[in-house]
Amino acid sequence: MTQNQPEKTSVAGEGQGRRRAALPLLPTRELVLFPKMVAPIFVGREKSISAIEAAFGAQSPVILCAQRESAVEDPSFDDLRPVGVVARVLQLFKMPDGSIKAIVEGDERVRARRVVESEPHFVVEYAPVLTADASTARARSLARRVSGEFVRYVHLHPQLPDEAQYVVQQAEGPDELADIVAAHLQTDAGEKQALLEIESTQQRLTALLESLAEENSVLGLEAEIAAKVQERVEGQQRQLLLHEKLRVLRDEIEEAGDEADEDLAGYAERAAGKQLSPSARKLVTRELTKLRQAPPMSPEVAVIRGFLETVLDLPWGELAPAEVDVPAVARHLERTHYGLKDVKDRILEYLAVCRMRADAGKAHAGAGGEAADAADQPATILCLAGPPGTGKSSVAQSIADALGRPFVRVALGGVRDEAEIRGHRRTYVGAMPGRIVEGLAKAGVDNPVMLLDELDKLDSDWRGNPAAALMEVLDPAHNRAFRDAYLETEYDLSRVFFIATANDTDAIPDTLYDRLEVIRLSGYTLSEKLAIARRHLLPRVARDTGLRRGDVRYPRGVLQAVVRGYTREAGVRELERALRRVARKVARKHLENGLALPVVVRGEDLRGYLGEAHWLEAELPRRARVGECLGLAWTSDGGEVLTVEATIARGRGELVLTGQLGEVMQESGSAAWGYLLSHVERDAELKRLIARSPFLTAEGLDLANQDVRVHVPEGAVPKDGPSAGLALAVAMLSALGGVPVRPRVAMTGEITLGGRILRIGGLKEKLLAAGRSGIRTVLVPEANRGTVAELPEDLTAKLRLVYVASFAEALPHVFGGLGG
Ligand code: ADP
Repeated sequence: MTQNQPEKTSVAGEGQGRRRAALPLLPTRELVLFPKMVAPIFVGREKSISAIEAAFGAQSPVILCAQRESAVEDPSFDDLRPVGVVARVLQLFKMPDGSIKAIVEGDERVRARRVVESEPHFVVEYAPVLTADASTARARSLARRVSGEFVRYVHLHPQLPDEAQYVVQQAEGPDELADIVAAHLQTDAGEKQALLEIESTQQRLTALLESLAEENSVLGLEAEIAAKVQERVEGQQRQLLLHEKLRVLRDEIEEAGDEADEDLAGYAERAAGKQLSPSARKLVTRELTKLRQAPPMSPEVAVIRGFLETVLDLPWGELAPAEVDVPAVARHLERTHYGLKDVKDRILEYLAVCRMRADAGKAHAGAGGEAADAADQPATILCLAGPPGTGKSSVAQSIADALGRPFVRVALGGVRDEAEIRGHRRTYVGAMPGRIVEGLAKAGVDNPVMLLDELDKLDSDWRGNPAAALMEVLDPAHNRAFRDAYLETEYDLSRVFFIATANDTDAIPDTLYDRLEVIRLSGYTLSEKLAIARRHLLPRVARDTGLRRGDVRYPRGVLQAVVRGYTREAGVRELERALRRVARKVARKHLENGLALPVVVRGEDLRGYLGEAHWLEAELPRRARVGECLGLAWTSDGGEVLTVEATIARGRGELVLTGQLGEVMQESGSAAWGYLLSHVERDAELKRLIARSPFLTAEGLDLANQDVRVHVPEGAVPKDGPSAGLALAVAMLSALGGVPVRPRVAMTGEITLGGRILRIGGLKEKLLAAGRSGIRTVLVPEANRGTVAELPEDLTAKLRLVYVASFAEALPHVFGGLGG
């Protein structure tokens, strides 16, 4: 039934091409299904019955696409909306009248591309609808707002039970949240379909936010009107009621007076048990007096209580054992994390320095010095930098565990308001302490390991500069007396062990960057991922699912197929998620159908457990093409293969670069073009390559009347930096000479106006991406030879690396055996 048609696509964010599969399609009339949503459907039409029975029989999913017009009885493919959802058929019941009732569960959004068969039912080729902006800070912040509005919507909407508000907590990330909220929106099919079709997560969330805000204001108004009507009807009754209420209220006030006395005693006792600083003690006493004098039911009481709770929840000098036992940390990191040798070494060196400083401080104190309580953290803060899922947070957690200190995570992604770090003044309604102080209350001691997560995602706007506030937090000269606006008094942060994380250190404000000791984690190779899965992910997944270690077994090839077919990432987060999915399904089958354990997962089972593979062997152009070559890019999420396309057309001798290129990349485009212009007719080798150029005239190359256009597609990858210079020059030269570039050759290197190829960064990520995409040969700057020696062997073994110091040296490898 299925036909796999290899085809190159260039949908944003997909990287290189992929195969598409085909599935039966069921047209729906009023139902718009979303991923993660379970719904009953009633199927009466013959063609639809055939589709759903075929899917159920083959245990394969089915695609549900809504009809444009629900009145059409026998829709053609063009009568359907192109975006629908792949759904699993969970149950199927035949009704006495021959129709079918089925329970389906949405899995992922897809775009139906082409009909493969239309009788006895539609079978269509499809491709997933991918979003490129689901993990941005903005998406997360929008998602938070959508959740908030949704909770209000549930409260206001008469048909939604209050429990519905909790569904948003199940969402794994902003895009899934958008699906879940859209599925619960009580609106017509047209609006739901529109929400299903928007590709970008940010745009979907924005559209949802607008719908929810509008609905909420209408619902709010309705509730208000209903209340007013009731008020009038109840006219006189109300008088009676008010009198009764007043009586009850008086009784309550008297009781509250008694309670307040108890409260006061409780706070006083807690304050006595804490080692408050003198100024904090003064503050607490002042607030207790205020509390005593405030009328029991006044709003001020809640504010005072909130403050006292906050202050008395803080540790005030309470400490976890502070000894830094370096060998113990080494052993623990070795147990919990595979590989990462350099990272572990550098962490241990850093901790050794902490230990030496602490010991020196103590010795000083012993000799009567005044440095008795010198903070033990050096002036620089550890910052773990690298793509998502490479173990930054879990390494920090392991350090905390090994040191025996509590671990708290402070998320900085999307923080724009200085008050989130430094606290709101209490004059402000709903004032709260900042996240640092909040973290200490959570930790319960003054020396926890505090993870400042996503330092590079700090933002700033008119509400101040959170980075500057953070400087104060991290500065040993100031953080002993940190002032949180809410606390109104100083708090000592000098004992906190801060660790920061970032994806992209370039996005960290310079002032902060100077204070960091950056340790880089790069992506994992395939065999590193397999080892991490075997040693760490599988045992943990089994434990979390209630299975025993070894209950779910993967032969090596199958585990590889999971990595290759279902994940595309530098780290191992998606991999862990996929393994979790399999384990959950095994556990369920074991309970429901008595599936015997242990289970050996076979390659052909993967589809049943994980659905269609998302990433099949990448499809790179097999034939050589003119004006097209492959570059390699570094992004904060890992490496990417970029296609660079150059064309030459009539114009005025201009260079036009498109595809959202950053400034530095535009400059390197100019450098590449400049080099070609000045060398192409002088250098013998280059001259040979343009010998058959369509732009060659008797007077030489006619470039004054042509424009060179260079385009770098793959819209989702931010493209900047000088390292595409070599690829840009190759694409331009190929277009100029009409000579094709060899396929499966990728290159990276900065080019100078004189044609020298300079060193580049992020080589490991780039080579990983090349390997994943099936590239055979990679041109690397000669100056990077040393970097390559430090890379794991299995990364470089399958690639042919060619070192080039100049553009001329690159030519035979790029155009060799072709054209010329
Ligand atoms: P990050 O903070 O870099 O985004 P995490 O620390 O959340 O990544 O890691 C994602 C998952 O992968 C965690 O479950 C972590 O334990 C696991 N992991 C990552 N790297 C390793 C490793 N080298 N060894 C063992 N587990 C790892």
